[in-house]
Amino acid sequence: MYQNGHVATGFGINSVGKIPLGLKRKGLRIVVTGGAGFVGSHLVDRLMARGDSVIVVDNFFTGRKENLVHHFGNPRFELIRHDVVEPLLLEVDQIYHLACPASPTNVVGTLNMLGLAKRIGARFLLTSTSEVYGDPLQHPQVETYWGNVNPIGVRSCYDEGKRTAETLTMDYHRGAGVEVRIARIFNTYGPRMCIDDGRVVSNFVAQALRKEPLTVYGDGKQTRSFQFVSDLVEGLMRLMEGEHVGPFNLGNPGEFTMLELAQVVQETIDPNAKIEFKPNTEDDPHKRKPDISKAKEQLGWEPKIALRKGLPMMVSDFRQRIFGDHKQDAA
Ligand code: NAD
Ligand code: UDP
Ligand code: UDP
Repeated sequence: MYQNGHVATGFGINSVGKIPLGLKRKGLRIVVTGGAGFVGSHLVDRLMARGDSVIVVDNFFTGRKENLVHHFGNPRFELIRHDVVEPLLLEVDQIYHLACPASPTNVVGTLNMLGLAKRIGARFLLTSTSEVYGDPLQHPQVETYWGNVNPIGVRSCYDEGKRTAETLTMDYHRGAGVEVRIARIFNTYGPRMCIDDGRVVSNFVAQALRKEPLTVYGDGKQTRSFQFVSDLVEGLMRLMEGEHVGPFNLGNPGEFTMLELAQVVQETIDPNAKIEFKPNTEDDPHKRKPDISKAKEQLGWEPKIALRKGLPMMVSDFRQRIFGDHKQDAA
């Protein structure tokens, strides 16, 4: 499909998957859905730097034009305001599908992007999530683990949406021969992260900067493993360019309790920051840590940036957005 699809780009795309990353080649035409968001905008930076032509499709539900403004005016860059729930007609070589609100539209958007990939013979990459493992009974989580998700829980709309998206992706692969890739992304942080969407790293960093107490939910002994965004983007690109379908866990195996995370934030921003305990949400996974052996072996990938090194880079971005340029937060 990938080689034979009628791709009317004029960019010459035969056997693209065989060209190792970093080698000179003609640019591809690539769609990044959700490209105005946190991860997507960093991915777009890497693709643009590599010389590709990039079309971002985003409805600005959580994304911001400010994340992409440095590409405006570049003839290789296009930004389309579009909801992926509506069908989309384009001609491209690769589709990175990141667009995702925490609701069932996740499924419809994925279906449309798979339909698009099938029609034009593009390679399709789904950004799935570690949440497909639910509250895992296996630790660390290996890709072969089927997960433990409560289908009627308060978090299940997102989890089940991504699980269905994985199912659809594999069905289009097996049934229609679409070339697909699946990444299961573990908690990721870094510059351009939404300030107010309630994720733990963004909450703690914003709270410490604003001299508010850090809100630890529950007893704070639950764990997560935090990956810096540039490590994730490198993994996504290796996955797209490589020969393996996946799924692949993309995450940093460095595991922290929320109390340990609060401590790292205190060390990095304000040693006097207070901690305030709040009730936790139901069904909150008790622990989460990726087994990344498969990505190491098959993609030659592993994260390079530890939390204590990555956090300061996020802090300077947050400091600037919170105290500096207020316009950025309005979008
Ligand atoms: P984000 O909210 O910053 O980015 C998502 C982007 O998709 C936004 O720009 C938003 O405006 C856009 N979008 C949402 N619904 C859309 C729609 N219907 N049509 C068009 N655009 C739409 O989130 P992110 O952290 O950058 O996440 C990117 C992807 O990675 C998502 O699929 C997410 O589920 C996945 N993921 C992220 C993490 C993480 O820790 N950041 C972890 C696991 C999985
Ligand atoms: N689709 C799209 N762009 C395309 C091709 C398809 O958005 O270029 C959408 C289409 O509207 C449909 C979905 O993708 O809702 C699935 O398409 P497919 O052809 O696989 O299914 P069918 O339309 O045959 O049910
Ligand atoms: N959490 C917390 N304080 C906050 C926000 C979140 O202690 O202000 C906890 C939350 O209960 C969960 C963990 O941090 O145990 C990670 O939450 P997040 O929403 O960032 O990611 P996810 O639960 O999706 O992995």
